Amino acid sequence: MARTLIKNGTIVTAVDQYRGDILIDGETIQQIGTSLDAPADQVIDAAGRYVIPGGIDVHTHMDMPFGGTTSSDDFETGTVAAAFGGTTTIVDFAIQDFGKSLRQGWETWMAKAEGKAVVDYGFHMIMREFTPELGREMKDMVDEGVTSFKLFMAYPGVFMMDDAGIFQAMQRSGEIGATICMHAENGGVIDVLVKQALARGQTEPKYHAITRPALAEAEATHRAIKMAEIADVPVYIVHLSAAEALQMVTEARDRGVPAFAETCPQYLFLDYTNYEEPGFAGSKYVMSPPLRAREKQSEMWRGLRGNDLQLVSTDHCPFCMKEKELGKDDFSRIPNGAPGVETRLMLLHDGGVRTGQISLNRWVEICSTAPAKIFGLFPRKGTIAPGSDADLVIWDPDKKVTLSHKTLHMRADYNPYEGRQVTGAAETVLSRGRVVVDRGTFTGQKGHGKYLRRAPRA
Ligand SMILES: [Zn+2]
Repeated sequence: MARTLIKNGTIVTAVDQYRGDILIDGETIQQIGTSLDAPADQVIDAAGRYVIPGGIDVHTHMDMPFGGTTSSDDFETGTVAAAFGGTTTIVDFAIQDFGKSLRQGWETWMAKAEGKAVVDYGFHMIMREFTPELGREMKDMVDEGVTSFKLFMAYPGVFMMDDAGIFQAMQRSGEIGATICMHAENGGVIDVLVKQALARGQTEPKYHAITRPALAEAEATHRAIKMAEIADVPVYIVHLSAAEALQMVTEARDRGVPAFAETCPQYLFLDYTNYEEPGFAGSKYVMSPPLRAREKQSEMWRGLRGNDLQLVSTDHCPFCMKEKELGKDDFSRIPNGAPGVETRLMLLHDGGVRTGQISLNRWVEICSTAPAKIFGLFPRKGTIAPGSDADLVIWDPDKKVTLSHKTLHMRADYNPYEGRQVTGAAETVLSRGRVVVDRGTFTGQKGHGKYLRRAPRA
């Protein structure tokens, strides 16, 4: 087994920051110290760099069928892009089909990832319906390491589950130590607003946002939390975008209710006005929930600082403009989603740490440690400690990068942050001891990524 020594770096975790050397033996960290002088097959000089635990993105959609097309990154291209951005673990979403078992959905997504992923991956399971049989199967999935189930309060007829189904899935999650991840938007209200807008001839991309108001997200967030309280289980709100929804999470947490939420970079760095870009350009930002008012973003940052928002994921779900054009005459047909898995750490370092919104430690926490803890991967992932996987990023805090789809690695012919200059980027990236990105060159191997069996809630 190869031994690697990372020397002279500034090691940054969720709680520490110190100068030190890291000795990797095979796939795991063996020793951390000052002036380590162990024999090693390779030595990486990290002077002037941070050494951080690899990013963990718990919300990606690789190779996902949606709205008559498929997200354009598969598990190979998507995880290569993740690695370039300093993310060494993704948790993607397997989907249960109507009338089909959870196992069939899981096996379908396992087959999509196996032999392709270049970094490690796990799965949440999207349930479209609840039956007693599926409830029994939830335990089988937990035994396979799928310890979280995503339910939708939006997309009627496609993903939306009614409150009775949601409530029973919540009760079952309590029995088996699973976590419910909720897409919280009121799908019934949104459906009516969409039909009314289209009937008025309002077809442009901006109506995607106008027909999905913040209060529809706040209402569903509130309802999800109340149902979880009745079922006496924790609940985790995915891609929270609206300050009005965050208020619901904050209010619950202040009462000691185990409500959790993630947000995404797009809700911190982009806003409603992007939908008003000329022509059809607004379609680049069509995602659900939509981008919100810029004036509300300070509340999101406050939530991140105060831990009412525990982490930042991406909801990476890229489409090319050709696919977006499916909705040229009808915003409701624009595939929902945008690329993001590669740019999360850069955006949050540049726009979060460097601007003083969050500390360096909090950056590591929301990008790596908290996702590992909440989703059953800690301490194997999410920190730098003896025995942990050697998923490590050598981060150059001074490197300037101009974000562009031409130089980024995600499979999309546009980038939502095109032309934005950021400072700080991943330089060298290791996945389980193997260098997968070496100073800007991909050196990994497809199939290196392994399936992660995640632990249930303790
Ligand atoms: Zn999503």
